[in-house]
Amino acid sequence: MTYDYAVIGAGVSGITCALTLARSGHQVALIEQAPRTAPLLRGFSRHGVHFDTGFHYTGGLGPGEPLELFLRYLGVGDRIETFCFDERGFDLFRCDAPAFEFSFPIGFANLREQLAATFPAERQAIESYLEQVAAAGQAMPYLNLEAELSQESLLQRVIGPSLREVLDRLTGNELLKSLLSVHSLLYGVSSREVPFALHAAIAGSYYQSVRGIRGGGLSLARAFDARLAELGVTVLCSRQATAIELSPGGAVSGVRLADGELVPCAAAIATVHPQLLLDLVPEGAFRPVYRKRLASLEETVSAVLCFATCDAPIPGLSGSNRFYIPDTAAMDELGGRAVGRGALYLSAAYRDGDPVPAGFIGICPALYSDVAAWQSRRGERPTGYAEYKEEALERLTAQITRAYPELSGHIRSIEASTPLTVSDYCATPLGGLYGVKHMVGQYNPQPATRVPGLFLSGQAVASPGVMGAVLAGLVTCGTLLGHDRIRKELKGCC
Ligand SMILES: Cc1cc2nc3c(=O)[nH]c(=O)nc-3n(C[C@H](O)[C@H](O)[C@H](O)COP(=O)(O)OP(=O)(O)OC[C@H]3O[C@@H](n4cnc5c(N)ncnc54)[C@H](O)[C@@H]3O)c2cc1C
Repeated sequence: MTYDYAVIGAGVSGITCALTLARSGHQVALIEQAPRTAPLLRGFSRHGVHFDTGFHYTGGLGPGEPLELFLRYLGVGDRIETFCFDERGFDLFRCDAPAFEFSFPIGFANLREQLAATFPAERQAIESYLEQVAAAGQAMPYLNLEAELSQESLLQRVIGPSLREVLDRLTGNELLKSLLSVHSLLYGVSSREVPFALHAAIAGSYYQSVRGIRGGGLSLARAFDARLAELGVTVLCSRQATAIELSPGGAVSGVRLADGELVPCAAAIATVHPQLLLDLVPEGAFRPVYRKRLASLEETVSAVLCFATCDAPIPGLSGSNRFYIPDTAAMDELGGRAVGRGALYLSAAYRDGDPVPAGFIGICPALYSDVAAWQSRRGERPTGYAEYKEEALERLTAQITRAYPELSGHIRSIEASTPLTVSDYCATPLGGLYGVKHMVGQYNPQPATRVPGLFLSGQAVASPGVMGAVLAGLVTCGTLLGHDRIRKELKGCC
């Protein structure tokens, strides 16, 4: 059987493509190298505590908001239960030098008042910043179904301004700038590099509303599986795509798998990291300049992560994450500092069915270059790496308990992962948490390629995060089926 579409990669964007095409009556094969679909969403358990990995919380999931609408359109909205994060403080920001704390309340108006009460001399800057965030969010195609997907909207990403440029124009207050840059941890690009338009779309969605999913990312993965089965998508897991095959005329004719099998298809959508795509496509299929462009895309920051179980419940983390920075320069140096000296993010982990957190995940930005010397396959790490990992975990644990003394003495077990683990787990060559960067001056790939029948999707194309990956899937399907059609169908779900 020749499929209409073979989608390579069953992450959120690949699943979105598969569901959108299947609901339009197309025959779709979804190819994933991991044993299960949506590997980033599934997390893992230790000592009875489930740790979410690629999903903790999101904006845009409130009733009628973009992600909620997208998930309903995909037929998974009523298969998950969402819950609102703490309205008074979904993220708690703490800085040591100067000593400062701030709780991000949910809602633009609440945030404006809370910020203005904390920085009374900066009211005008705060109002202007939030107005610009809201306006940029509204200009994002698909997030706003009336906004056009124009060259201009795409160029905004490349020419900037950056978040830092916007903030510098508004205020000289470094603490306020750090505070408003803290959500750069959600897309892995520093404020000096990230296009303000992208920051606004992501951070603005969190300012508007913040939700989690009961049962975490795993519940969403299961909902996706049920819908894929319902729509008759052929799901091929533990099957790595090794080549996109072309007909003598140069059009896509199939996807070759590692076991030699060919999945014949009229078109293929690759949702993998753009640099991995280069290994799949015959050498001459892309122009050298395009190959070079994909090969040189910069990667988002990596991280050392820790996964801790506690011997006492930690209610403070319920519906509220922690962002910690030692000083205001830390947000400009994402990953540029030794583990335990830079920014830190903590999020709750739960025992099955228990509403009070029983553990936490810590994420500390780090660079792949820290571990590049031990580059190796999982399970075959050279000596020296274990020592690095142990030391990194010690430093991270010390930082966490220094920053949050209430956790001190309660950690029962703690394990670490490094940029090498992230590289394997996220299928990103340099361990980028969110694949390649969206940054000022960098042209990320668009869905269409010059190879007839080959299309791209994934967080590199639109935006990182679960909402960004769904958006990428929709934008790619819009390129295939017509943006007006997809938008009309989405509006029909409003
Ligand atoms: C630690 C961490 C925490 C995060 N927290 C959040 C959060 O709280 N909220 C949020 O919204 N987002 C979060 N994210 C981001 C979010 O998970 C991602 O942006 C999103 O899942 C990316 O989806 P994707 O489909 O673009 O990419 P991926 O999920 O990477 O999908 C690509 C798929 O392709 C597969 N693949 C690669 N090569 C091949 C091949 N040759 N053959 C077959 N399959 C292949 C991969 O295995 C992968 O499954 C987090 C990410 C990380 C790493």
